[in-house]
Amino acid sequence: MQLKGSKQLFEEAQKFIPGGVNSPVRAFKAVGGDPLFIKSAKGAYIYDEDDNAYIELINSWGPMILGHANELIESAVFSAIKGSLSFGAPTRREVEIAELICQMVPSIEKVRMVNSGTEATMSAIRLARGFTGRDKIIKFEGCYHGHGDSFLIAAGSGAVTLGIPDSPGVTKGTASDTLTAPYNDLEAVQHLVDANTGRIAAIIIEPVAGNMGCVLPEPDYLEGLRSICDKNDIILIFDEVMTGFRLARGGAQEVLNVTPDMTTLGKIIGGGMPVGAYGGKKEIMDYVSPAGPVYQAGTLSGNPIAMAAGMTMLNYLNDHPVVYEELNKTTHTIVEGIQKNLDNLGLTFTINHIGSMFSLFFTENKVTDFNVAKTSNTETFGLYFKGMLDRGIYLAPSQYEALFISRAIKNVEVEAILDANYEVLTELKKGGTI
Ligand SMILES: *Cc1c(COP(=O)(O)O)cnc(C)c1O
Repeated sequence: MQLKGSKQLFEEAQKFIPGGVNSPVRAFKAVGGDPLFIKSAKGAYIYDEDDNAYIELINSWGPMILGHANELIESAVFSAIKGSLSFGAPTRREVEIAELICQMVPSIEKVRMVNSGTEATMSAIRLARGFTGRDKIIKFEGCYHGHGDSFLIAAGSGAVTLGIPDSPGVTKGTASDTLTAPYNDLEAVQHLVDANTGRIAAIIIEPVAGNMGCVLPEPDYLEGLRSICDKNDIILIFDEVMTGFRLARGGAQEVLNVTPDMTTLGKIIGGGMPVGAYGGKKEIMDYVSPAGPVYQAGTLSGNPIAMAAGMTMLNYLNDHPVVYEELNKTTHTIVEGIQKNLDNLGLTFTINHIGSMFSLFFTENKVTDFNVAKTSNTETFGLYFKGMLDRGIYLAPSQYEALFISRAIKNVEVEAILDANYEVLTELKKGGTI
């Protein structure tokens, strides 16, 4: 029997896949209703198994920055496939992409390719620990660094959405080596560093947070972290899995002009294929096996098809900086339009925005950290999400996610998004929800 439509597929999926999905946020738990099962996507539109079309504001959580089924990337993948799917041996393409990454992100002098953002951050902190001979790391509440044990503490979006701030299965020993501080609170970091002299290997941060909704660093905050790290020989790691190649060719560190010791990358770097990377200063990276003693490996790392997709994506972005101007302009128009809608309706919700990332928070507070983000009314968000979906706009199914604009979104789509936004907000207001 051929399964029909999202509803039937989700019922069947739940019999054979935990929760019916292969990654938790996809399950729509935070907003209610059943997830859409996606059949295909092209440009700015995604199509579900019931043949509905939606304007895409998730874009695979970031990677599809040029829109879906981009022809350049597709043809690079098609031609790479002809030469076998995997070798488990070094290839020319890996050299070329490493060189390109180092050129686009100058703080990266050497880089190692892995298969996901999670692998990148896990490997980065192992390396930081091995290099410094210290055990502890500092992370920030609401920042997500993948599902590595050390990071599943105050881990933002997926974790908070499902109410699992500390996941069972993470040992107390591991958890005790992860210290947490509120985002944008330099004093809290200084306090942790003072209380753990000589024991902190690394501070890891999303230089622009995207996993508690979009939250920007306050002026001088990242500089402050840089200086604390310098004074205490702590490795500063920017987790740019989300912001890398999105905010600029050189990521958030280029836009904000702060230089980390190490950077983790993912999402856009694979052009839609499963790829991650970690890199940084030569002397640190040369501590990785086989150059150095810290072990890290991967049977499929640097996979030829993934490298072909990633290389084509990065080359395109590197050669066409106008992409960023366009993305920023489109996003600015959307954010301005939503602000205007809010103003017209006498609503005072908060919008955070940088480059082609933004979040509308259903709170009147200025959102600077996870605690404030959590003052958002998630029930209202759920209704807003459903209203937008009914009008053909595919938002991330959680208040605590950033939305990503792709280059395929043009004026027609911007207008559709803003019209839907106005209609849904009006409906919520009339219904007395807001
Ligand atoms: C998505 C994300 C990760 C995890 O990447 P996966 O490929 O999902 O493992 C890590 N850090 C940040 C900042 C992310 O946004």
